[in-house]
Amino acid sequence: MELGTVYAKLGSKVTVVEALPQILTGNDPDCVRVVANKLKTWGVEVMLNAKAKSWEKKGDRAVVTVTTASGDVQLDADRVLVTVGRRPNTDGSGVDKLGLKMEKGFIVTDAQLRTNVPGVYAIGDCATGMMLAHKATKEAEVCAEAIAGRKSAMDVRTIPAVVFTDPEIASTKTAGRKTKAGKFNFAVLGRSLSVNDPDGFVKVVSDAETEELLGVHIVGGNASDIISEAALAIEMGAFLHDLSLTVHPHPTLPEALMEAAKVVLGEAIHAVNR
Ligand SMILES: Cc1cc2nc3c(=O)[nH]c(=O)nc-3n(C[C@H](O)[C@H](O)[C@H](O)COP(=O)(O)OP(=O)(O)OC[C@H]3O[C@@H](n4cnc5c(N)ncnc54)[C@H](O)[C@@H]3O)c2cc1C
Repeated sequence: MELGTVYAKLGSKVTVVEALPQILTGNDPDCVRVVANKLKTWGVEVMLNAKAKSWEKKGDRAVVTVTTASGDVQLDADRVLVTVGRRPNTDGSGVDKLGLKMEKGFIVTDAQLRTNVPGVYAIGDCATGMMLAHKATKEAEVCAEAIAGRKSAMDVRTIPAVVFTDPEIASTKTAGRKTKAGKFNFAVLGRSLSVNDPDGFVKVVSDAETEELLGVHIVGGNASDIISEAALAIEMGAFLHDLSLTVHPHPTLPEALMEAAKVVLGEAIHAVNR
């Protein structure tokens, strides 16, 4: 979706073939809806419940056969980009001969990135957990410190993730309990209006009883920049009032985080309290 958006904005006609009933599965469905709508603006055609079955070269064209509910259709394209899934690249590297404990292709580690084989550590995409650059970096730091004999461990409550579509989706969350949530739309935020980018919102999720912050989902311009404050808040064990009582400069995008916390608390001034 990230590369598709880029190519569409550069002027290519992009068709997305998606086997599942929605794009960007795993992300907050409300956020995905905003991206799906914006794709129409970029002229991206999305085929849902459609399975890419095969392709063949015809001259300098690539013809893809797609299975849909109403039968097979053929798409004539200049280029086909296959971007289905990622998995640890451990095949053929000799890792299998070390006797490492593996789970679904990932190397199992402890909080100091030790494997079950003494002296062997694993970090990044080949080790269990999210396949993200900043997760790999954090693990590398912890691993190096552990090897150096320091008291270091992977002790994080949340790892933020970003989808760099236009608009972006950014989210960060920790273990779920009974929750309540509130949303604040960028359409009523001064900064978003002044830069003419009103699509999207910030959604704040908290524990229903204690009001501890458990998650934040953002869709909109610069979502990737706003999410770090949310990650810090979760790491610090913040409550909704910590966010809502922190003075945010106006007009800025992170104000939406404070406003969304107020919405959950029923203390909103710039949104309707329900
Ligand atoms: C298209 C794409 C976009 C992405 N975008 C983002 C993003 O926006 N943000 C984000 O956080 N993450 C993103 N990621 C994920 C991110 O790139 C990975 O999580 C990160 O690079 C993992 O770091 P790593 O060191 O574990 O593995 P890698 O960066 O893959 O490094 C592993 C290295 O090992 C080498 N290697 C492999 N096998 C052998 C061998 N047998 N012998 C010697 N060397 C070998 C490889 O060539 C490679 O250089 C993206 C990934 C892809 C594919």
